Amino acid sequence: MPSISLDTSIQYIKGVGPRLAELLRRKDIYSLEDALYFLPRTYEDRQNFKPIKDLTPGERATSFGVIKRLAFVPLRSGRGKIFELVIADRSGWIIAKWFHYNAKYMMTKFKIGMPVVFTGDIKVFRYQKEITHPDIEIIEDTQKESLHFGRIVPIYSETEGLFQKTIRKIVKNALDKSLDILQDPLPDEIRQRQNLWDLKRSFSEIHFPTHSEGFSLLFSGTHPARKRLVFDEFFFLELGLLLKRSHITKEKTYSFPPSQTLKQNLLSSLSFELTQSQKSVLSEIEQDLGKPHPMNRLLQGDVGSGKTLVALLASLSVIEQGHQVALMVPTEILAEQHAKTFETLLTPLGIPLRLLKSDIKKTEKEKLSSEIQEGEISLIIGTHALIQSDIEFKNLGLIIIDEQHRFGVEQRLALKKKGHAPHMLVMTATPIPRTLALTVYGDLDVSVMTELPAGRKPVKTKVLKEPQRLKLYEFMKKEFLKDRQAYVVYPLIEESEKIDLKDATQMTEHLKRIFKEFRVELLHGRMESELKNKIMLEFKKGLIHVLVSTTVIEVGIDVPNSTLMVIEHAERFGLSQLHQLRGRVGRGSQNSFCFLMAHYTASQEAQERLKAMEEFQSGFKIAEVDLKIRGPGEFLGTRQSGLPGFRVANLITDQPILLQARSEAELIIEKDPYLSSPEHLPLKEALKSRWQNKINLMSAG
Ligand code: ADP
Ligand code: MG
Repeated sequence: MPSISLDTSIQYIKGVGPRLAELLRRKDIYSLEDALYFLPRTYEDRQNFKPIKDLTPGERATSFGVIKRLAFVPLRSGRGKIFELVIADRSGWIIAKWFHYNAKYMMTKFKIGMPVVFTGDIKVFRYQKEITHPDIEIIEDTQKESLHFGRIVPIYSETEGLFQKTIRKIVKNALDKSLDILQDPLPDEIRQRQNLWDLKRSFSEIHFPTHSEGFSLLFSGTHPARKRLVFDEFFFLELGLLLKRSHITKEKTYSFPPSQTLKQNLLSSLSFELTQSQKSVLSEIEQDLGKPHPMNRLLQGDVGSGKTLVALLASLSVIEQGHQVALMVPTEILAEQHAKTFETLLTPLGIPLRLLKSDIKKTEKEKLSSEIQEGEISLIIGTHALIQSDIEFKNLGLIIIDEQHRFGVEQRLALKKKGHAPHMLVMTATPIPRTLALTVYGDLDVSVMTELPAGRKPVKTKVLKEPQRLKLYEFMKKEFLKDRQAYVVYPLIEESEKIDLKDATQMTEHLKRIFKEFRVELLHGRMESELKNKIMLEFKKGLIHVLVSTTVIEVGIDVPNSTLMVIEHAERFGLSQLHQLRGRVGRGSQNSFCFLMAHYTASQEAQERLKAMEEFQSGFKIAEVDLKIRGPGEFLGTRQSGLPGFRVANLITDQPILLQARSEAELIIEKDPYLSSPEHLPLKEALKSRWQNKINLMSAG
């Protein structure tokens, strides 16, 4: 007989044939381990049954009896039928009712004469005791085991043809089988320090609680059985991320001491001081660059906190040593803008830089390529064209990725491959709460900039409805007379890009009529890049008062003199997008405003988003709210896929456990960066099996 392991197919369990296996697959149960992790959706205390006579309306109770009658009763309205069971014991009877059900399923499941146990809220309807949508289960007369009653009973999520009792038996069998083979990979030291149950006991107790008190805590994470499983999920995730990081940080690469001359010259050309945040983050980065191992750092800074300048200053260390820097951004417009900023600041220092456009001519591109390859260009800026192109660097020392949440992991990697273990700085203005950052970016070092440059004022934010539109226009006019500028943003939804564009175009025409004395222009993603740049430039110069645009301006654009942001159909935008958009104003010393035009039909969720915008200015606060509204899965989006999902842990409610798991994983990796000591062998094995196919732990990425 082959030896069994947690990976052994569920069909190994007695009674699980191909048909049942197929049903279990629908619940994602393929192996013994999957069965262990198929946790109850609730529990029922079936230690005490009440006679039916004693069931009192208003209470939730468990009782049992025999099915006496089974019927589909037409509703009075004539629309549909209710499914009813009459259940009786010696003391009395009660009607169980279903308003939503699958008739075929009910017919196969219930037969007259069957004994059933049921739990639910007891009610009275027309003088009759009833129970609607009860949790109900058939008991076999001959059944002697105590799996199904006389105890705290687990209730699993069912599927058609796969009922409670079957699932319970399968899980129990899987549990018994795996108890012999389940090794606890956690070192004793950690278990003791964290007060963790061992793995066997935890699985046993979470499926078949033996303590009648506290079983309801099994959901909350405060129960030791659940805590152990949650801890494991977090611990192995963090351990994997840290291991990956330790591989990266052990790679050899060039080290760059902090720039002297170039930095001094640049700083003295600025008309302002760096903020405290900028200074400390820059010094963190400079320290990293000074080491002979690649930096792997994420800079989270709120919109407008001045990340670009930090990136530029960091580049100087590398450039001063004669190495190259590549800066990758998500949009052409942003690339243009960065190129201008960098040009203004770097050309006086004699630093050669170029912008790589995607629509560049072949001959031009060849010239550019050879210049980069020869090392004649120190800094190159571009969109993902940077990775698609056949561009080769002479000696790429640092890659910087701006608005990194717009890129996937693969793109990050592809750029990295353009050099030999280059240092990497990724930047994002979409901050995520620390605990979430640990799960998504656990392999990166994280720097945070919360501070905005001095003199910035909060952006007054207001939700407006259609009737207030004319007032808004009046207000805008007054601002234009003070020579301020405005963005008016239209949402662009991919499916109907053409229609949206029509809306934006019509809006532009409309605004041109409203603001006759001022200049109104449209900017959208499908425009020729020449024209886009021309308009952007004129807007930047203050020649255009109103820039109507689709969301192309969303990321990164920096025009300090524009103080008004009007967002049409604000209810259609996500919270982080709204915050990004609002971040386009409030960049100078004047008062700035953000108006969110919302429709009456906005959903509850949309209204919560808009309210959060009125209430909060900080991106970190906004991110927290966003996480609460959408939950971690949605919040992180598909971009971050590649990370293991959680079967037990809840990223929001289990945060304290995550922090503990992280610090334990850190301790281990500090002592044993490659998990090479024999005592950590079980850990390494467990880690491998958990991370299978997820991320290649041993490669830098
Ligand atoms: P973000 O962090 O959103 O990328 P930017 O880098 O675009 O922000 O910077 C926003 C604006 O703030 C730019 O106009 C930049 O020149 C300016 N800025 C950056 N640092 C400072 C500072 N220390 N003091 C004043 N203004 C600054
Ligand atoms: Mg930016």
